[in-house]
Amino acid sequence: MSHRGGSSSRSENSIGVVCCYHNLPAVTNRAGTESNSGRRFYVCKFWMVPKKNCNFFRWVDGAVDEGDASNSGIDSTILNLQENLRLAEAKAERRKKERKIVVQELRKVNNDVRVIRHMFAVVIFLNVALLAVVLANRSSMI
Ligand SMILES: [Zn+2]
Repeated sequence: MSHRGGSSSRSENSIGVVCCYHNLPAVTNRAGTESNSGRRFYVCKFWMVPKKNCNFFRWVDGAVDEGDASNSGIDSTILNLQENLRLAEAKAERRKKERKIVVQELRKVNNDVRVIRHMFAVVIFLNVALLAVVLANRSSMI
């Protein structure tokens, strides 16, 4: 009458550790999708290694999605892609920040150059003025 056991025992060994299709303890991860934000799930420990990943996927809080293995594989692949996307976005963000710092440095250097140029102009002006005074003195002495 009752349908206990069944598929849920497939991925859990005798001490209650969730195992993937490799029969290795699965690792938990947190979902980043809008509809499942923060929901934890089990995946193969090789989930980041496309060729080794056995595509095991199971929500921590229930085995609802466990039935359709092909669908679970797709879920797991989507989650992998989302993780990759997040990493790529973080990298792009870092690059953007680095570029901003470089631009700021360049602006600073430009400013320094302007200040130095200004100081140079002042020094030249003073030299010319001094020369004029010296020449004026000399001509008045003659
Ligand atoms: Zn596995």
